[in-house]
Amino acid sequence: MSLPTAGCPGCGVELPEVTGPAHPYLLGSAACWAGYGDLLAAQYGDPQRMAFHQLVVDAYAVQHPGRSDDRRAVQSVGIHLMTLQLFLEEGVDPALGSSLHRRMVERPLFRPLAAPAARGHRTFRSVPLSGAPGEVRSAAFAWAGDAWAAWSVHHDVVRGWIRRSGLAPGG
Ligand SMILES: [Zn+2]
Repeated sequence: MSLPTAGCPGCGVELPEVTGPAHPYLLGSAACWAGYGDLLAAQYGDPQRMAFHQLVVDAYAVQHPGRSDDRRAVQSVGIHLMTLQLFLEEGVDPALGSSLHRRMVERPLFRPLAAPAARGHRTFRSVPLSGAPGEVRSAAFAWAGDAWAAWSVHHDVVRGWIRRSGLAPGG
């Protein structure tokens, strides 16, 4: 007998159903949130993984956007898409993520964006909990790239926010 599974309303990952806490505004299943918690623990436990940690946080956030009438959720999607653009298209170092987010919140340029129905093929489960940091980093970049691509209809809007923010290298 197998346990009943359910699809996460955010990223679509199929996991055995659990009851448990959920994030206050990111929309996802309790099982997905718990599994992501294990990934975060692996990240926080390894300084080499923390060098690209922001990619993990950004990818998860944009795959689990909250309601567009929730100010916190709008800010979350905005700043996580903006850092994904900087890391993936401008070559910015993910280690700079938290200072970039602070500057984005101080000077907000984002507005609500309609979330895409499809959020990518990879989920948090594509990032190994252990193993060589280089391989884990590659997996995190692949997941982040997939999550960013899912928002392609809004890429030009996000690029515009980045241009106005002055946060791009040389920008
Ligand atoms: Zn999920």
